[in-house]
Amino acid sequence: MVNTCAFIEEARAESVEVILDLEDRKRSDARAVVIGCMAQRFGSEVESALPEVDLVLGIDRYGELIGALDRLTEWDPVGLRRRPVMDILHATGRPEPDLPYACLNVAEGCEKPCTVCAIPASRGKQRSRRPLEIREESASLAASGVREVVLVAQDLAAYGRDIDAPGGLPELLEFLGDVSGLDRLRLLYLHPREISERLLREMTDNEIVAPYFDLSLQHVSGSLLRKMKRPGNVEKHTVLVERIRHLDPDASLRSSFMWGSRERPMRMSTSWPTSWQMCGSTGPGSSHIRPSPGHQRP
Ligand code: SF4
Repeated sequence: MVNTCAFIEEARAESVEVILDLEDRKRSDARAVVIGCMAQRFGSEVESALPEVDLVLGIDRYGELIGALDRLTEWDPVGLRRRPVMDILHATGRPEPDLPYACLNVAEGCEKPCTVCAIPASRGKQRSRRPLEIREESASLAASGVREVVLVAQDLAAYGRDIDAPGGLPELLEFLGDVSGLDRLRLLYLHPREISERLLREMTDNEIVAPYFDLSLQHVSGSLLRKMKRPGNVEKHTVLVERIRHLDPDASLRSSFMWGSRERPMRMSTSWPTSWQMCGSTGPGSSHIRPSPGHQRP
């Protein structure tokens, strides 16, 4: 079973490579199943391009997986509970954690219009889990020996907007602050538009929240960001970083920057030095820089 990614061209190419490699090596009585984002977004293309694959199942059809596997094989039915409809957001039943940290998915999907991203098309609109459900899973992880829970979502800072949780992420952090046995919460991926003063204060005041700011800045050029349908420019990003540094001078910052844009991959060459200068002057702890889709690596 190959869990594919469709986020960028390289990920799609790697997914196809893994499928072909497994096809070459698989036993004659084995079955090849392709799931994940590429199956969700390009299911029919995968089926016609790779006829040797026995089953292609996108994310919103995971409820059919068990029945489909039973039909595909002559093995005894796997006997798991079947669900006609299943959202991976609520697909619990994780294995016993064997590391001191674990990721906890608090929401799925994204409604932002970023032109460089395939996630809204493959994961759908945002669906947030209930705060109580998240607290119970955190407590269960802590009881199994997990010390750090990493909260993840495609648009984490927008958590709660689609459910009756008006306090959003700051209130969730407060709610999780006294889970017994849990030493640390870490947040991954904060979209700058969603970073409110209240969130910054909760992150710096709540002792259980790691002083770690994973800012999804992506670029510093205002005009390119507008083309990407993302907010900010070098001044606004700098103000945000300085505000974080003011609230916690020891905070660790991480960000990712994209090189180029889908329509005009080379355009960023003029502002690339600016991005680099901003990294130098604001001093993020680490940056991830990747070429935009369609851009050739230098
Ligand atoms: S906010 Fe993030 S996940 Fe949502 S569309 Fe933009 S890049 Fe994609």
